[in-house]
Order: sequence, then C-alpha cells, then structure tokens
Amino acid sequence: MNIKSSDYLISSPSFDKCPKPDRLEFAFIGRSNVGKSSLINMICQKQNLAKTSSTPGKTQMINHFKITTKEKKGENSWYLVDLPGYGYAKTAQKTRRSWGQMIENYLRKRENLSNVFVLIDSRHAPQTIDLEFLQMLGKWEIPFSVVFTKSDKEKPGVVKRNVEDFLNKMRETFYFLPESFVTSAEKKIGRDELLNFIENLSKP
Ligand code: GDP
Repeated sequence: MNIKSSDYLISSPSFDKCPKPDRLEFAFIGRSNVGKSSLINMICQKQNLAKTSSTPGKTQMINHFKITTKEKKGENSWYLVDLPGYGYAKTAQKTRRSWGQMIENYLRKRENLSNVFVLIDSRHAPQTIDLEFLQMLGKWEIPFSVVFTKSDKEKPGVVKRNVEDFLNKMRETFYFLPESFVTSAEKKIGRDELLNFIENLSKP
C-alpha cells in the first residue's frame, strides 16, 4: 500500500459524533503508553500526526484520520482511528466508566469498522488487562489483530518469549489466534506487514 497523504480529521467525544461511515475504518487501541501514537506516526510517516500523549489517560476522544492511498487506478482512502487507551492506574473510576461506554458503543455500532489493532507492549509478560480486553472483543465478535510494540527495547529472545507467552495465554480462551505483528516505531519495523494486511482487508 502506497500512502499518498494522511490528515487529521476530527476528534469525537462519542460514537454518534463520528464522521459519516462512508469508507472503511481501522482502529488502534491499547494501554496508555503502549506506543500507539508512535506507531500511528510511523505507519503514516508523519512525525506529529498522532500526539505522543503528555498526560496518559487524559484524552478520551475518538480521533479520526483520513489516509489517502495511491492505486493503479487513481486514489482510495480509509479512516485510521486512534482510540483512547485503557489501564492508566490514576484514571478516576468515573472516567473509566465513561471510557468503557464510549468504546463499547463505538466498537459495536460503527458499521464501517473493518479491524481493531490491539497494541501490546512486547517488553512485558502477558497482562490481565490486555487479555480481558481481547476477550471482550471476542465476545462482541469484533475482528481484531494483535500488534506487539517497542520490539527494539528488549533483547530479541525476551520479545520472542513475551510474544509466545501472550499467544499461549490467548489459546486458553480463543479457538483461533488472530493475526499478530511485531513492530518497532523506533526502528520502523512492521510497517509493510500492517499496511499489506489493511490492503488485503480493503479489497472488494
Ligand atoms: P501512547 O501513549 O500509547 O500513544 O504511547 P507513545 O507513542 O506516546 O509512546 C510512549 C513512550 O514510548 C514514548 O516515550 C515513546 O517514545 C516510547 N516508544 C513508543 N514506541 C516505541 C518504540 O517502538 N521503541 C522505543 N524504543 N520506544 C518507543
């Protein structure tokens, strides 16, 4: 996939304020600080497209970006969505509840949502909060993939073990494992794989 341009469109406080569902949409979500903004910037090759969050857990908006691609026959476009992160320890319970409601509405009702990329920090052993979020997606039958981030930060052996442990944990509750990707925004690893995957899902 050849990205021609990527532009920030709008931040919406709720599902019903999102742009018209007039093209395919791919969303990114994960724990605060997982490296979501860095990954989005890496994919779009724009340094400051998604803001690297200064106050984790504070932004509770659904952020839409329009990605235009160059095709053999002209142009195409899709929405990239940056969803607010979960699991920030200092978030008040009330904020967590409103986050949950907003995310559930968006994920279950957004008709053009093609896939959710769930980001997992490859430096850590499997975390319950991530596994629980994936189980929720499974229960709601939302298509998703797993993206391991920051793979440059640990020795390859550690990353490999964490990835395997995570996928093994998933095997305990899922019949099928989803597609997974190992990435580094820092070293620009995984971009082609993610874009190819999106391209394949975009084919009519
Ligand atoms: P977000 O809160 O999920 O949007 O996470 P950010 O993109 O703001 O990243 C959180 C921190 O991790 C920042 O200090 C980033 O510089 C760092 N970071 C993100 N991705 C990578 C990566 O691939 N490699 C390394 N070494 N650091 C990363």
